[in-house]
Amino acid sequence: MSQAMPSLAQQVNQRKIINGKDDVVQLYPIKHQFAWDAYLAGNANHWLPNEISMQKDIEQWRSNSVLTEDERRVVKFALGFFTTADSIVANNLILAVYKHVTSPECRMYLLRQAYEEAIHTHAYQYIVESLGLDEAEIFTMYNRIDSIYNKDQFAAQLVPQLTQPDFATGTLENDQAFLENLIDFYVIMEGIFFYSSFAAILSFRRRNLLPGVAEQFQYIMRDESMHMNFGMEMIHQIIVEQPHLWSETFQRKIINKIVKAAELEAAYAKELVPNGILGLNAESFESYTRYIADRRLNALNLSTRFHEKNPFPWMSEAVDLTKSKNFFETRITEYQTGGALQWDDF
Ligand code: FE
Repeated sequence: MSQAMPSLAQQVNQRKIINGKDDVVQLYPIKHQFAWDAYLAGNANHWLPNEISMQKDIEQWRSNSVLTEDERRVVKFALGFFTTADSIVANNLILAVYKHVTSPECRMYLLRQAYEEAIHTHAYQYIVESLGLDEAEIFTMYNRIDSIYNKDQFAAQLVPQLTQPDFATGTLENDQAFLENLIDFYVIMEGIFFYSSFAAILSFRRRNLLPGVAEQFQYIMRDESMHMNFGMEMIHQIIVEQPHLWSETFQRKIINKIVKAAELEAAYAKELVPNGILGLNAESFESYTRYIADRRLNALNLSTRFHEKNPFPWMSEAVDLTKSKNFFETRITEYQTGGALQWDDF
């Protein structure tokens, strides 16, 4: 070994989330342990939509006496948002984020996360197909419904800048743009904009309605809360590595952004449940959005704004990852291991 080559300890200390000088294909030595842990946890939580039976859901959807028109509208409207939202997240990861991340262990998780976003889009497609919904109506909703379009547009506002061929990290302005994009997607899109719809869909489960749809959304919400936790860890680590990025001005900008995001989500919730469903009304969704926004501000060590009580306490068992092990105990599918695969045909 040449004497000029840094020791493993030196290498790991040089490793950074962005602007690192590391060899991005050399996983070891791992510095950002949270990323490797998230990668392993993501694999342990693997699931696929078509493992889940939609039989009951199809019967209930076809029946004239089970679901009200408002309840059907909620399912279609939430799918209208979700069918494109996860694709927008995946595109941001692969096209705007991945290239600039210089931590190989973070890149490993980004690859896992991108696949999970594809699984989520697959789940929405599976639900749309199973229930016999109009694909053209659902998959184009983001372009036709203002409250959906506004959320997508808000989260994706920095994507054109980050995907410019000549965009590079390493300046204050560009590093802050990158950090802001992480907040736009991990905190606002996956951490706020998904939650009214999660609450609405999971409220069906509480009345034993649409069990296959609800079960898939439980898995999706578990994945999404992991994405958000990983994003928060990455954001905090970038701030540790480059503290000057987290200036007073930048913090104020982020607080204002999260407050604006809560308004957009409340406007969306008003269209999602204009008349209320299953005992939940638009006001309770607005309170829930504000409660969630405060949680995100708090997780970023920023001052909270709304101080609302959680109107949906039943959501916390589904959101709280520490409890999710029991929550998902019902899963029965076993994945094939490498040794069980048949290679003879090749
Ligand atoms: Fe996600």
